[in-house]
Amino acid sequence: MTEALYMKDSYLKEFEAKVVEMNGDQVILDRTAFYPQGGGQPNDLGTLESGGKSFNVINVTKSSGTIFHHVAPGGLSVGDSVVGKIDWTRRYRLMRMHTAAHIIDAVLYKEAGALCTGNQLGVDKSRIDFSLDVIDREKMQHFIDMSNEEAGKCIGVKIYFMKREEALKIPGIVKLAAAMPPSVDNLRIVEIPDIDMQADGGTQVANTKEIGKIELLSMENKGKNNRRIYYALNGQKEKPPF
Ligand SMILES: [Zn+2]
Repeated sequence: MTEALYMKDSYLKEFEAKVVEMNGDQVILDRTAFYPQGGGQPNDLGTLESGGKSFNVINVTKSSGTIFHHVAPGGLSVGDSVVGKIDWTRRYRLMRMHTAAHIIDAVLYKEAGALCTGNQLGVDKSRIDFSLDVIDREKMQHFIDMSNEEAGKCIGVKIYFMKREEALKIPGIVKLAAAMPPSVDNLRIVEIPDIDMQADGGTQVANTKEIGKIELLSMENKGKNNRRIYYALNGQKEKPPF
């Protein structure tokens, strides 16, 4: 098991760790702030530095609680101390996209009873699929306007852990229709007070004001009971303020 530092602190950009195992070009650390791809959020990129050398992290994956850092081969060995550095510009954009997705999900759930059936966050644009039969552009734009109104309230995002059995009693705690949370005793809860509460493993901004303005790009009909939207965030290209 790798200690997943990003679960407790989404703003951790740099960390120290030890190489505990090598699997070909995949490095396993005792702890990491690198987010592994999953839950619709892409993996982080960045570097691992050790002994005056820097190794590019080109992919990060997770399997049974172990996080694998895929690096250019050669150079690191078990026992090495490393400093990990996250590509923060990329990650911060994904955090803004992720919290925006939770607000859009919550509005669609509340206003139209729609469940999110899939999502893929991206650095420049993101998509969400909803269980909806009919929705026109005007109506969806209205939901996006409502999402912007909610985000504009500058609400602090809370992240904490809750006993699985308690958490699963909360209606709407699992909004990704097909995905039940992992079978762990404590679920990580992302709460945007008065808007949304979800069992979630992703990284999030600390305040909804950091999201910026959500812009509806396009909509697609993906078949019966499935409507896809694409959105972007204004200011998405800017450097992070932190
Ligand atoms: Zn999420």
